[in-house]
Amino acid sequence: MNDAVLVLNAGSSSIKFALFSAADPESAPLIKGRIGGIGRAPDFSARDADGVELAEDGLIAIDTTAGHGELTTRLLEWLDDHDNSLNLIAAGHRVVHGGQSFAAPAMITADVMSKLQKLVTLAPLHQPHNLAAVDAVSERMAGLPQVACFDTSFHRTQPRLAQLFALPRELSDQGLIRYGFHGLSYEYIASVLPDHLGDGANGRVVVAHLGNGASMCAMKERQSIATTMGYTALDGLMMGRRCGAIDPGVILHLVNGMGMSPAEVERLLYQKSGLLGVSGISNNMQVLQESAEPNAREAIDLFCYRAAGQLGMLATALGGLDAIVFTAGIGENSSTVRQRICDRLTWLGVELDVEANQTNATKISRPEAAIEVLVVATNEEQVIAKAALGLVGAPG
Ligand code: ADP
Repeated sequence: MNDAVLVLNAGSSSIKFALFSAADPESAPLIKGRIGGIGRAPDFSARDADGVELAEDGLIAIDTTAGHGELTTRLLEWLDDHDNSLNLIAAGHRVVHGGQSFAAPAMITADVMSKLQKLVTLAPLHQPHNLAAVDAVSERMAGLPQVACFDTSFHRTQPRLAQLFALPRELSDQGLIRYGFHGLSYEYIASVLPDHLGDGANGRVVVAHLGNGASMCAMKERQSIATTMGYTALDGLMMGRRCGAIDPGVILHLVNGMGMSPAEVERLLYQKSGLLGVSGISNNMQVLQESAEPNAREAIDLFCYRAAGQLGMLATALGGLDAIVFTAGIGENSSTVRQRICDRLTWLGVELDVEANQTNATKISRPEAAIEVLVVATNEEQVIAKAALGLVGAPG
């Protein structure tokens, strides 16, 4: 039997999963895949460690009405059918919100679940799905140790000022603070920084996680000291569908002036804004880059303008800048976006090597530049697998 750790990342409309060998969690996952289009037109794909497509050998039974819990159950059944030599020894979950109390991964117990349930209001679009996946695993595999890994934990090292809103003190005391997200991605990048920067890894680094969701993290000594997302994952950078930082007066106007309901405003800010809202074409950066429409170009321009601006803010929090790391779908693949952001930062000492950037090389800054710029692929799943193994104990 092959001892393995199942990693589940239940997002708003997808469940991503990966199965890691317990003996060698740093290798490519044994199986990796996703169920996408949940609630609309669900689809399932899975690949083995060599990238060979596996989904055809036993299509998972899904229907359009199935929710995250039911689909997790289908997935567990598929895994069972697919390879019965696998012996699951733990499941690790990405959980968006750990509030103020979870600064590290936690073994899931009834008590932990009830605490996580209370945080649903802080991340209503993600947390319920994360918890539904935990419940589905408990039901089908009673007794399997489950571990929650939080997107917020990495930021709990931030100084108090970086976490405070300028709101009445009693609200901050009630937990209305800046939590920050994408912490599992930042933890992975922090763990591999010495491979790329040597001693410089402990310097002043901004990591730009640019995917569908996008944020940046300022790190000193590989710890978070500031980030662009706040109380929710809506703040900060412009994203695929989310607006990012916005004048709160606009929201008051939407409600009081235009009579929109809170649910309509939520949908506008989370689903209809960002690249999609500005372009009117797509939330997908690649699609926009291939479009000749002026509105697509303007959406990309705004994305880069705002990203460069927020990077400047983080450089101020750091008191200077030694390195920038681009990661996630856009950060790892879009030389255009990296170039446009960096072009706005030449005053800081950023100078790209055009050819290295175009080929997605790891180091894309010029050798003589004051600031090193890197492209590093993130691996949130591996962080979760290692955390789960750390808590359940590696097999003896
Ligand atoms: P998620 O937040 O869903 O994990 P990803 O990190 O996969 O998102 O990033 C998705 C984004 O990356 C999309 O906007 C997609 O267009 C963009 N992307 C992926 N590949 C490329 C590419 N070659 N050029 C430009 N953008 C890309």
